[in-house]
Amino acid sequence: MSILQTIDGFQFSPVQTSVINNASSTVALGLSAAKLSETVDYSGHKVVSVLPKSEESLQMLESFERKGLITYWNKPSGLNRLASIQISAGNFELISNILAEQALSPTILIDNIQELIEKQKSEIRQRQIQNANSKAFDFENFHVYSELVAFMEEMAANNSLVTYSVIGQSYEGRDIGQVAVRTGSPGVKQIIFLECGVHAREWITESTCIWIFDQLASGYGVDPEITALVDKYDWIIVPTSNPDGYEFTWASDRLWRKNRALTDNPVCPGVDLNRNYDANFGGDGSSPLACSETYHGVSAFSESEARAIRDSLAENRGFVKAFVSVHSYGGIWMSPYGYVTELPLEYDEMYRVMAIGAEAITATYGTPFDYANEAAILCKTNCFFEWNYKDLTSGTTRDYAYVGENIIYAYTIETRGKIYGFVPPPSEILVTAIETWNGIKAMANNLL
Ligand SMILES: [Zn+2]
Repeated sequence: MSILQTIDGFQFSPVQTSVINNASSTVALGLSAAKLSETVDYSGHKVVSVLPKSEESLQMLESFERKGLITYWNKPSGLNRLASIQISAGNFELISNILAEQALSPTILIDNIQELIEKQKSEIRQRQIQNANSKAFDFENFHVYSELVAFMEEMAANNSLVTYSVIGQSYEGRDIGQVAVRTGSPGVKQIIFLECGVHAREWITESTCIWIFDQLASGYGVDPEITALVDKYDWIIVPTSNPDGYEFTWASDRLWRKNRALTDNPVCPGVDLNRNYDANFGGDGSSPLACSETYHGVSAFSESEARAIRDSLAENRGFVKAFVSVHSYGGIWMSPYGYVTELPLEYDEMYRVMAIGAEAITATYGTPFDYANEAAILCKTNCFFEWNYKDLTSGTTRDYAYVGENIIYAYTIETRGKIYGFVPPPSEILVTAIETWNGIKAMANNLL
């Protein structure tokens, strides 16, 4: 179907997501809208990098995004800062011409998203076939949620350091699983808490956190650094805090971001869980519109998935020394606040530790990694880019960990991955996990 829209004097077809196996009545309205039960096909969709050099260019991108003509894969964090945007096949020529006229220097990063998705699927299948006779968990492949849960349960059954618990249920009734790695009883040592898989399409965060979990559980008594880190801290990991969204990305829409809750708009389910926390809920950088990728939900903690993390943090109140929300992608380590440009009182200390973490990531394979507080993007030293644009976010898990639970070391890590975006091949898992873990270890070794 083709509904023409007129935007700023230009005519566009809406962002098209055709739907495979659609025998009945699916209506493809836009990137956020065409998320029903069938498989969404991204044939011809491209990811383009742009370089905004003026406020006007940034505003134009914002306007395109608000109108559903583009989807950000990586939001522009400032002037002269590369951003990545997804454009449908139908809009590509016109939008790329406008971007070129505005001196945004559009460069194609991914020519056909569906091809990348198919390639990823095929590589996953190949590894599954190769490992069909092995009972060992394949850390270098992606796994559906039930396999992640089975692995956590198996580790808990066979490793005395590991406890598996269910901290809540998702909207569709899936257990939200959490593992703890600890040598003694809970409530004695301080805790390092990792939350992963908040955004459904960010599969490499699940893979990274499951690998880190195994490093901790299997490395104790073997690796001296890990032994010391488990002796000093209890580790709590929630590998998938959005299981419904994650399952939906396997079954129907590889690029789904939010959870799967129904909203007041029947064609636009899903709340952005990383906008649903009680930390300036509903403020800048979140949307009241159900079809938005950053829809904040009807109220703070309206979503059971966010409540599960909130309650787990509350249960461990007073013990959580550091909280890290692992996302992909972008190559940046961020601290509070996301919603105001003022710096937190403890910013110098937050900054000191995230600098150590980010630099440990870079030291691993040379991956460029920035670090800054999210809202003001005040990168002080060793900055890869000069940022001066406010990229606000409200209602995030990280800011709640800080303002709601007083956890000073509250961070978001956006892992590497600029080439493949949200659809990396399995061969990216191990390098991402290793460098991210090096960053988190460096953080843990330097907490005051
Ligand atoms: Zn994310």
